[in-house]
Amino acid sequence: MAEHESLEFGKADFVLLDNVSMEEFMANLKLRFEKGRIYTYIGEVVVSVNPYRAMNIYGRDVIEQYKGRELYERPPHLFAIADAAYKAMKRRNKDTCIVISGESGAGKTEASKYIMQYIAAITNPNQRAEVERVKNMLLKSNCVLEAFGNAKTNRNDNSSRFGKYMDINFDFKGDPIGGHINNYLLEKSRVIFQQEGERSFHSFYQLLRGAPDSLLRSLHIQKDPKAYNFIKVGGQLKSCINDGADFKAVADAMKVIGFTGDEIQTVYKILATILHLGNLTFGVDGDVTLIENTKLVSVIRELLSTKEENVEKALLYRTVATGRDVIEKQHTTQEANYGRDALAKAMYERLFCWIVSRINDIIEVRNYDAKIHGKNTVIGVLDIYGFEIFQNNSFEQFCINYCNEKLQQLFIQLVLKQEQEEYQREGIPWKHIDYFNNQIIVDLVEQQHKGIFAVLDEACMNVGKVTDEVFLQGLNTKLAKHAHYTSRKLSPTDKSLEFDRDFLSKTFIYSGKNKDTLFQDFKRLLYNSSNPVLKAMWPEGKLRITEVTKRPLTAATLFKNSMISLVENLASKEPYYVRCIKPNDVKSPLLFEHERCRHQVEYLGLLENVRVRRAGFANRQTYPRFLQRYKMISEFTWPNHDLPSDKDAVKRLLQGCGFDHDVAYGKTKVFIRTPRTLFSLEEQRAEMV
Ligand code: ADP
Ligand code: MG
Repeated sequence: MAEHESLEFGKADFVLLDNVSMEEFMANLKLRFEKGRIYTYIGEVVVSVNPYRAMNIYGRDVIEQYKGRELYERPPHLFAIADAAYKAMKRRNKDTCIVISGESGAGKTEASKYIMQYIAAITNPNQRAEVERVKNMLLKSNCVLEAFGNAKTNRNDNSSRFGKYMDINFDFKGDPIGGHINNYLLEKSRVIFQQEGERSFHSFYQLLRGAPDSLLRSLHIQKDPKAYNFIKVGGQLKSCINDGADFKAVADAMKVIGFTGDEIQTVYKILATILHLGNLTFGVDGDVTLIENTKLVSVIRELLSTKEENVEKALLYRTVATGRDVIEKQHTTQEANYGRDALAKAMYERLFCWIVSRINDIIEVRNYDAKIHGKNTVIGVLDIYGFEIFQNNSFEQFCINYCNEKLQQLFIQLVLKQEQEEYQREGIPWKHIDYFNNQIIVDLVEQQHKGIFAVLDEACMNVGKVTDEVFLQGLNTKLAKHAHYTSRKLSPTDKSLEFDRDFLSKTFIYSGKNKDTLFQDFKRLLYNSSNPVLKAMWPEGKLRITEVTKRPLTAATLFKNSMISLVENLASKEPYYVRCIKPNDVKSPLLFEHERCRHQVEYLGLLENVRVRRAGFANRQTYPRFLQRYKMISEFTWPNHDLPSDKDAVKRLLQGCGFDHDVAYGKTKVFIRTPRTLFSLEEQRAEMV
């Protein structure tokens, strides 16, 4: 390890611990946190502890220190990882990805922003206008996505309520020429409900606090969030975030990105419609369901540019196909309430996805650019929700935790398993290192026919039945013997379900959210709007009721598919990891809650990571490739060798330099244990050429 870090700050790489034990790991993590060293390596993995205070380590001067350097030359930092990914992309032509994981509030989103800033800062030395434009868009898009996708929660004042994967495309010069964003599972239930102490998405409060009076008037909105049922549930109406100023910043960002005036107006109209929807109440007169505050219907009609009767009808009736007949069926008040809530959630979710796709339209690589230069490499940055365990856990937590199991599995595959398998394949003496392989948990969730998702989907195919019970029964029969499944075995009327697992904790799921139905009548209503922006968001509204598929894919299946393709995508790239740790639950810069941190170190598998890394080798190269690069430093190999094999030649070369003790010779590759050896080889080579 380089000399710049004295031991007073602990070990900069956990690989250097005297003994790999949980105690030593934790002691080092704590010491570094207390000394303000928030980053520590495990080889090329960055472990980060949220400092909960402004750190003076992200400035231009620091960026310069990391630019183009090797990982081990400077103290651990996100910038070093960003640079490593960048170098791999630029020099070796590899697609890379940076996977940032950790629980809510651990610092993932901040880390992803610093990484983006670093990449923006080190690229485009020639200040090409087109590249500057792209960089500006990529950075600005964050601000918009956070407004619509983030919220204040009890864990994090600016918690991302969606998963985000962003690709940045680079040209042959290594400058960003475009990007693409994938978003995952927005927590749309937040649109209508928040836990005590939490808020809905920032966008609503920003509109109320920041919009000019004339805009509010045209939306028939008043400034006070307390006036709106949907956004006052959590009771947390103030926050430390400056909603008013953010409103203007977001509006400006949307303009810069290229949203038209009409589009921005439509965004506001949708937000306002949702607020009004929340105040709609239903009553009954005899056996007729009716809307109690009809004034709101006129307001909604105006905002959605639809006909007044249509709004009312969509809220009170649904069209159903029975055989060849199409009839209109009146909602009960309960169904009407359900429909209203579903509409509000669906409109918001659709708005969010539309915003992402508009941003993509603008930042996606222009074809001509990529084609002309014939090269287009990618760095992907994944900032996705970490494990969550609440008092009440629902479908969303289940999906989120499943996603983390998938990512953990990828980590195991790439970092632990592949590494060990390669040593075995190469015949390198190797003591197997035990780790908990969570594939069994992933299978429990996603397996065909008998995984939890499959059982859930099956339960949801029952029309009219109480699906939660069917679901619970299905699980109890199909998974009874599974080592990681235990049912709560509560009374059949208790609709909750719990399943235990070693790795994480407990999850409750409900089947209702999986079905996720929005009556076709609403889709048609929005499609028939005379506002072209709104209409374009709801293309499926043009289907007649008889054309609508009876069994659309469930939310669980859609999510599962999106996770599988995400993991495939990540697996095709060279991965870099940032593992974020949350030091305490009170956002304190001083408090290192030992047990809290130990739990995270454990479920992230960091200790196993250190063990594998320590037993392993920093670098490996095939014999011919090694010779090609270093043959000039030895008289035995320059310009050619006359030994029986390349392997023998490499041995001879390394013995000559005195590095023999630090390497192992595999069947096809030479393995170099410490980076220092590699640096020396590089230095000697540089002296020769
Ligand atoms: P996550 O995305 O993992 O839920 P965030 O990245 O939003 O968490 O971080 C939560 C909060 O923690 C931030 O709003 C910020 O106050 C603080 N924080 C996180 N990382 C840093 C950092 N590197 N420096 C200073 N504060 C940070
Ligand atoms: Mg976040």
